[in-house]
Amino acid sequence: MKDEILTYLEMCSRQGMSLQRGMCFREPPAHGIVLMSRRPNAPYADDLSLDEQVLFYEGHDIGRTRSTPNPKTIDQPRINANGRPTENGKFASWVDALKAGRVSPAIFRVYEKMRPGIWTDRGLYLLKDYDYPLVNDRRVFKFRLEQAPFDSSDRNESAPTDLKFSRQIPSSIKQHVYKRDKGKCVMCGATDHLHFDHDFPFAKGGASILPENVRILCARHNLSKSANIE
Ligand SMILES: [Zn+2]
Repeated sequence: MKDEILTYLEMCSRQGMSLQRGMCFREPPAHGIVLMSRRPNAPYADDLSLDEQVLFYEGHDIGRTRSTPNPKTIDQPRINANGRPTENGKFASWVDALKAGRVSPAIFRVYEKMRPGIWTDRGLYLLKDYDYPLVNDRRVFKFRLEQAPFDSSDRNESAPTDLKFSRQIPSSIKQHVYKRDKGKCVMCGATDHLHFDHDFPFAKGGASILPENVRILCARHNLSKSANIE
């Protein structure tokens, strides 16, 4: 669910796989997974547009091998030594097919790292484009993903049909609120099944997104809150 706060293990168990690679392609209507970070020592240069609707996602290097002891010095390949496409290759080939009008955009659930071991769900994005520019004397993939125009809190991942736009809580506010609320439910102090809650639902004319109207709630308190609204 969008704006959920997850530990690394919760994230893996929810997706049913180890997420060490950080990029995982799946053909739609299934969705793939992208892990991103804008933390100071992040291994890749991921970035978001100011309104956080567009994710600029850097492709990943191949793993270190005896013949490639430093993958950061070579062009990011589309194809592995075994002849199979890398994740970069799968992403790029899907965009090529998209531009040729043969497929619909691939869907990705995006998780952003908040701090070591803590991630937040940014919701669903669509892969729209890529580039393969020279960066520090080698070619790297730069993928463009755009926030999906359907409500990503829909639990039915494979069939997003609700065309309601959902407002994003900006990462800077999440970072601030996570610190302020000390990573706990503000009602009961629980430290698991947490998510960022926007106090005034936009549907009810809620205010713009300020730290004052965002807080951390556990699943139980979130449920009792929706029950009160209805
Ligand atoms: Zn609680």
